[in-house]
Amino acid sequence: MNRNCPTGKNVYRTEREALNDLKRVRHGHSGENLRALNAYQCRACGWFHLGHSHEKIRKQRRAAERKEDRRLRERAEQAGRAIAADERRAAQKVVRELAPIVAAEREWLRLLADQAQSHAENLRAIHRMVDEHFSRRDST
Ligand SMILES: [Zn+2]
Repeated sequence: MNRNCPTGKNVYRTEREALNDLKRVRHGHSGENLRALNAYQCRACGWFHLGHSHEKIRKQRRAAERKEDRRLRERAEQAGRAIAADERRAAQKVVRELAPIVAAEREWLRLLADQAQSHAENLRAIHRMVDEHFSRRDST
């Protein structure tokens, strides 16, 4: 039985044998490359080899892309929150700066109201004096 392959890869008679060897290779190791390794049946020799499964690589790439998407989305949300916080701080600053102006205008309006009231009192006093003047003249 010829157990050579034109690819030069290690040949296993069964998928189980290949997977057992993969387990042995993985033992004490970690990393993407080893995790992507899989047993597959070779088209050239019909035996089994260890190699990178394209499906597995695609899945890993998709997972990495999803992770990157999540990371970008989180960064965008963080930026959005930072902008909202900046705008809130800017609005609070405007309110703080406007507060004394608003207070001054309120004071000004109060003074105007006082003046208007004393004007009204003066006018009433003048009316009273005019009325008294004419009622004295009429009674004489
Ligand atoms: Zn082969």
